[in-house]
This record gives sequence, structure tokens and C-alpha cells, in this order.
Amino acid sequence: MGKDPKFRSLKGMPDILPEDSACMRWMEERSREIFRLFGFSEIRTPLLEDTRVFTRSIGQDTDIVEKEMYSFTDRGGKSVSLRPEGTASVIRAYIENLASGGTELVKLFYSGPMFRGERPQKGRLRQFHQIGVEIIGGKNPFIDAELIMCLDALLKNLGAGDFKIFINSIGCSGDRKAYTAKLKDYLSPLKEELCENCRRRVQSNVLRVLDCKRPRCRNTVKGAPAITDNLCKDCLDGYSTLKNILYASGIPFDEKPDLVRGLDYYTGTIFEVMHPGLGAQDAVAAGGRYDDLTADMGGPDTGATGFALGVERLMLIMDRSAVDLPSADAVVIPVDEALRADAFRLMVKFRRRGIACEMDHTGRSLKAQMRKANKEGRRFVALLGEDEARKGKVLIKDMSESAQRELAADEAIEFIKEALSVKDG
Ligand SMILES: [Zn+2]
Ligand SMILES: [Zn+2]
Repeated sequence: MGKDPKFRSLKGMPDILPEDSACMRWMEERSREIFRLFGFSEIRTPLLEDTRVFTRSIGQDTDIVEKEMYSFTDRGGKSVSLRPEGTASVIRAYIENLASGGTELVKLFYSGPMFRGERPQKGRLRQFHQIGVEIIGGKNPFIDAELIMCLDALLKNLGAGDFKIFINSIGCSGDRKAYTAKLKDYLSPLKEELCENCRRRVQSNVLRVLDCKRPRCRNTVKGAPAITDNLCKDCLDGYSTLKNILYASGIPFDEKPDLVRGLDYYTGTIFEVMHPGLGAQDAVAAGGRYDDLTADMGGPDTGATGFALGVERLMLIMDRSAVDLPSADAVVIPVDEALRADAFRLMVKFRRRGIACEMDHTGRSLKAQMRKANKEGRRFVALLGEDEARKGKVLIKDMSESAQRELAADEAIEFIKEALSVKDG
């Protein structure tokens, strides 16, 4: 580890080192189990898109589009951006490849890096990872219920502990139009009490004022009319059906009438998952309906909903004890240097039979090699001494019981495989 390396990774874009990457891979694998259970297929969209894919969907007057996107002009003079989130790309891909009239339910999941030029802090990076799903093709509240149940199962399977799901409905575009006018009327005389950004947003995007984290803004919006009191009958019915399904399915949730989301495209039911380990600012996962987005982006007029989970945030709070670091099961140690080639052949034999196996090539002493094998939690050490080599045998030490046996190579392989229950490769 150089103290002053010539090159460093960019701020907020750390390398993911083996301990964390093992954890991430474990999360992905556990996620796939749940997605299979819930009938999702995987989509992998490009990291780079036409900038308009994001400006059109996420909204011009959002922090992401205003100041966080990595946008640049490519060699052809086109403005392109690194994806700051997953939904816009998935909808673009859906319209381009999968929509076929928008009458079928399309259930997709994704997993990968996203990019936002935020001020880096704990759990907030510039390159971060999300695992997310989208269900496109319907507005039935049973779909929202499936989605929230999938998120609940996912978080449990990932060892997230005592998380809490908060839900709210922000209504259809008609409700939002009426509500936006009401909120404007309420906030306009109170403008002076708001932060500079919010003062502007009262005109341009008043819903975002509800989302401002500044204490003075939070205080000012306290008495504002609630969106939940301003829903049309369809939205109210859908919302209460959803709540009933969740009750009946035993999925715990809380209603949070002041919950709004930072992106423009949301409609109807939205939700956030909070965890005491992250504090009040950061959700570990969030999502909701965006029924107008597909049509807005030139696709069929069909409902859609989804969620995304912050991988790095979850890594801060999850119980990592279930995550196995990949490590070799056995280490082959030649007792002296003259036996190195024999030991090497033995290692090759082990690997061919499916036993993960290693050998030290750095010139450590026998004692140091044993110490290292112990420290790294290797289950077996295969010691090859002159005696054993002459007899065509090897000394197998089972570190879990500190017993040792002298076995022929083939016997040793069977013995280790049985102990590890390795299948024949
Ligand atoms: Zn409505
Ligand atoms: Zn504000």
C-alpha cells in the first residue's frame, strides 16, 4: 500500500475490494433467488444513454438533472449521460424492445452501477450500485402489493434487520394538478420562510418543496394541505385496496402522508424503506408508481411501478456474518524446497477434481505457511514430506479437528471431497 500513489481513484468512486465484492456478489445471488420466486427476468441496459432519456423522465427541475448528472458530448456531437438511476433506461428499453401494445405485464430486474455527482459522504457515492425491479403493463393495486411484498422478501433475504416500509399515495396526474394549485396557494404567501431553492420551486415544481430537508422548509410545510386528502375516487380506492392486501398478507407498513419522491415521474402509490442504522435522511430502498412515464417517453399508455435498493447503503446496515468470503479449501505445503514440483503436481490434481486449492510461492517457512493456513481458515493442509513422497502418499491435516492422516493422493482427494461434499466436476 503506497502512501502517496501516483494515481488515485476518483472521489466518490472507490474500488470495491474483495471483502466488499464478496458481499455484493452474495447480495446479488440472494436477490436473484427472490426475483425468481416473484417471476422477474433480468435486463441489462447500457451505462450510457442519450441525455434526453433522463432529462425527459426524471425531470428538469430535480437535483439529479440540475447538478448531478455526468453528461458530456460524444465524438458525434451528441449529448450523452451516465445513468443516474435505472428506471428511465428500463422504460426506454421496454418501449424499444418489449412493449408490444403495453397489454402484457413485463417484470424486469436489474443490478449495477449508477452515477451521480453528489458530495460524497457515508452511504452516498458518485458511483454506487442499485438492485431494482420494474413491473410495466398495468395499474391494478395487486401489482403494487406484489412489488412491496417482493421488496419485503428481498430485504429479509439480505439480512437487513429491522427496516420499516412507509407508503403514501401522491395521486394521478389529475389529482396532482389540483393539489399543486392548492399547495401553491398555501405556500405563496409564506415564500419568505422558504430556502432559496424552494422559493423558486413554489412556481416551477411545488411538490419538491415537501421534499426539502432544510429545517425552515420542513417547518413551513407542516400546516400545508396533505396530498392524501386530495385524491380522486379511483386513487383512493386503489390505495385502500393495496393497504388491505398488505394487511391480509402480513406485510407490516406505516402510512406517511408527507412522503414525496425526488423524481418527477412518480404517480399514485409510492414508498420508502427506512432503517435506524442509516438515520432519517437516507432510505435504503424506495420506489412507486409512474403511470405516465411510458406514454411520456413515446410508448404505450400503460401503468408501471418499481423500486430500487441502494447496495452500498444496505451494506452499512446488513448482518454480514452470513457472507462467506471465497477461500481455498486446501493448501498444499512441501516440507522442503526439493519437493515443490511434486507438491505443485498434487495441487493441480486436487483442482482437477474440484477441490479449491492453493500453494505458497513466496518462500515462506513451513511454520509460517502453517500459520497462514490457520489464519485464513483453510480446512485442510496437505503436507508433502520426503517420507510421504517416497511412499507416494501425503499427510492430510484436517484443521477443524487437528487430526492427520497419511493417504495416497487419490484417497486424499476422496477424503477431502467427502468432508466438503464437493460434487465431481
Ligand atoms: Zn386520482
Ligand atoms: Zn427548501
